[in-house]
Amino acid sequence: LLVHVSPLIDQAGNNFGAVGVLQDITELKKLDQLRRDFVANVSHELRTPLTSVQGYVEAMLDRAIPSEDRDKYLTIIHRETLRLNKLIYDLLDLSLIESRKEKWDLNEIDVPELVDQVLVKLRPLIENHQVTIERDFPDQLPPMLGNEDRIEQVLLNLLDNAVKFSPPGGIIMLRAKVENDNITVSVADQGPGIPPEDLEHIWERFHRVEKSRSRALGGTGLGLAIVRQIVEAHGGTVNVQSEVGKGTTFSFTIQALPAETQG
Ligand code: ADP
Repeated sequence: LLVHVSPLIDQAGNNFGAVGVLQDITELKKLDQLRRDFVANVSHELRTPLTSVQGYVEAMLDRAIPSEDRDKYLTIIHRETLRLNKLIYDLLDLSLIESRKEKWDLNEIDVPELVDQVLVKLRPLIENHQVTIERDFPDQLPPMLGNEDRIEQVLLNLLDNAVKFSPPGGIIMLRAKVENDNITVSVADQGPGIPPEDLEHIWERFHRVEKSRSRALGGTGLGLAIVRQIVEAHGGTVNVQSEVGKGTTFSFTIQALPAETQG
C-alpha cells in the first residue's frame, strides 16, 4: 500500500487539515515480480543448452575427446542448438499471441479432418512411443469457428505431450462434444498424471513437473502456455484433469459455427 499525504494550508498559512491518497500497489508489485521471474526463467532456459554446447565444443577443441566419440558429441550439440532454436521461436510466438497484434482469419474448422492432419504430422512420434490413438466424435459435429493454423497448433501441442508422456502401448482417447454452440475437444492419456500442487500452475510458462524429464523429451516448457493463450484469444477456455498414476485429460472449448448459419 502506498500512502501520499499532503497538508492543506489556507492563504494565511495555517494548516487546516490534510488529504491522503491510498494507492493499492499489490497488483503492480505482483506484475513486477512476474516480469522479473520471467526474465530470470528465460535466461536460465537459454543458458542451459548454451552451456552444454560451449562445454562440448571446448572439449573438442582441446582434443579432449577421442575421435571415435566426435559424432556422439556433435549429435548432442546439434540437439541442443535445435532446442535453443525452438525455445526462441516459441518465446517470440507466445509474445506475438499475447500482444493480440496478429490478425487471425476465422475459418470453419472441420475438427475430425484437422485431427487427421495433426496425426499425420505426429505419426513418427506415435510409432516411436507405440501408442494407439482412439477417437470418439459425434456424427454431426458442427464446424468450430477459429483460426485453423492456430487450432492445429493447440491440437499438436496437446497431442505431442499426450504421446510423449504415455507409457508404451498406452491408449490416447480423443473426444469432441457440442454443448450450447460450443465445441469441447479433449485429449486423455494414460501417462503418469500431474500432482494436484502442479496442476494449478501447469499453464504457466516454464512450469514443469519434472524438469529433467521434460528436457530429455525435448520440451521447452512453453507448449501449454501457448495453448492457453491461443484458446483465450479465441474467447475460449482450457481445462485439465489429472490423477497421479492414472493419466491426464486436457481439453479446450471454443465456439462452434451457430446452427442457424450452417448451410
Ligand atoms: P514441455 O515442453 O515441457 O512439454 P508444456 O508446457 O507442453 O512444456 O508442458 C509443461 C509440463 O506439463 C510438462 O513438462 C509436464 O511436466 C507437464 N505435462 C504436460 N502434458 C502432460 C501430460 N499429458 N501428462 C503428464 N504431464 C504433462
